[in-house]
Amino acid sequence: MDATRLYEISQKHMWLPFTQMKDYEEAPLIIESGEGIVLRDIYGNEYLDGYSSLWLNVHGHRRPEINQAIKEQLEKIAHSTLLGAANVPSIQLAEKLIEISPDNLTRVFYSDSGAESVEIAIKMAYQYWQNKGKEKKTKFVTLANGYHGDTVGAISVGSIDIYHRVYSALMFDSFAVPFPSASWHPSGDGQTAKEESLAAMQTLFKESHNEIAGLVVESMVQGAGGMHIMPPGYLKELERLCRAFNILLIVDEVATGFGRTGKMFAVEHEDVAPDIMTVAKGITGGYLPIAATLTTEEVYAAFYGDYAEMKTFFHGHSYTGNQLGCAAALANLDIFEKEEVVKQAAEKAEYIAKLLAEIAELPHVGEVRQLGFMCGIEVVKDRTTKEPFPSEERVAYRATLRMRELGMLTRPLGDVIVFMPPLVSSYEQLTRMAGIMKQAMLEIADSPVVAEQ
Ligand SMILES: *Cc1c(COP(=O)(O)O)cnc(C)c1O
Repeated sequence: MDATRLYEISQKHMWLPFTQMKDYEEAPLIIESGEGIVLRDIYGNEYLDGYSSLWLNVHGHRRPEINQAIKEQLEKIAHSTLLGAANVPSIQLAEKLIEISPDNLTRVFYSDSGAESVEIAIKMAYQYWQNKGKEKKTKFVTLANGYHGDTVGAISVGSIDIYHRVYSALMFDSFAVPFPSASWHPSGDGQTAKEESLAAMQTLFKESHNEIAGLVVESMVQGAGGMHIMPPGYLKELERLCRAFNILLIVDEVATGFGRTGKMFAVEHEDVAPDIMTVAKGITGGYLPIAATLTTEEVYAAFYGDYAEMKTFFHGHSYTGNQLGCAAALANLDIFEKEEVVKQAAEKAEYIAKLLAEIAELPHVGEVRQLGFMCGIEVVKDRTTKEPFPSEERVAYRATLRMRELGMLTRPLGDVIVFMPPLVSSYEQLTRMAGIMKQAMLEIADSPVVAEQ
């Protein structure tokens, strides 16, 4: 199909996720192919994948080993159900996941997206307490500004106002405790923010632990909330509080897992052992939709018994445990091992920090936040007061459109420009991307907004 037809049909029949289609009409993009960290559109324009195709890609596109693994699996079978039956690559992947995740995790429950892995974590934690006869433990605690996916359960434990407010009547109530960010705290002091957040958590747990099933938090970094990083020691303290008050610790590693923060899983920064851990995004190297909810033998055991006891976890999806996806994930993890990807990513992250230090000096950059390959650059009108640009000017969004023209793709989160390239990015490519971001930010921040109609 030629480019013009593709474009016309996309305008006529597509409705893209998390997209104001009016924006898309004004700046359409149709990807045709990719190789390494370069994406190519239907007109032959090339772009560096500065957001890892929405935080997924790890070792580059069309990676021969992963392609090969999928082809080999395809010659055996594409899919058979996991309901009441297992399959070969899902078993092999389960073993691998348990091997690389915190020691207390022993069970793998598959699904197809990050949001589902969180939905499953919530239902699992809820039913765990029901099965244990603690029927009152039904509520969840979250951190303000958290994000866990877009299904109704996942938004009920998320709290990003602009995404979630419209659905408030659909959602179940959760408790939200302030996230310990120095930049939001009136004192501007991380230590104070951390102490206050922990004190609030402790008070809530003390008063309400009898009705709290679990605490749901993103591991170390709030991604979609704008790349906010937990201060050192904070996640470890949350773990301690959960243990002290008999509350399940549910850690969402959907964005942070698989080397993204410079460790295989971000919980390793704090040596934390979650009761439930969700993984998705990087699990297949960004190839196919596989996700998983990992848990302990203790949680698993609460569901085990004679059928008539009605302890079964009644949850599943048609494509759960898909063989092609599991084969891709196995090949992905193989590359991690063979090429010491996590170690290399940690080293490259130091180089990224140097590149970002230069960007931090730009006239309209308020703050730069980074953990490993997860980076956010906050665009502000005034560096000193941190006064934001009027939101209708959409400065960060326009900057990313300019980056696209300059040959790099990313997507902003409000005023925050996301920089999250694949871990395989070379030093040279990282430098090029930083140059593009710098140029775009300089140009856009100082160009007047063209009034709409
Ligand atoms: C992306 C994300 C999700 C949702 O994953 P999907 O695969 O998009 O459903 C959940 N939690 C976190 C922390 C994420 O970043």
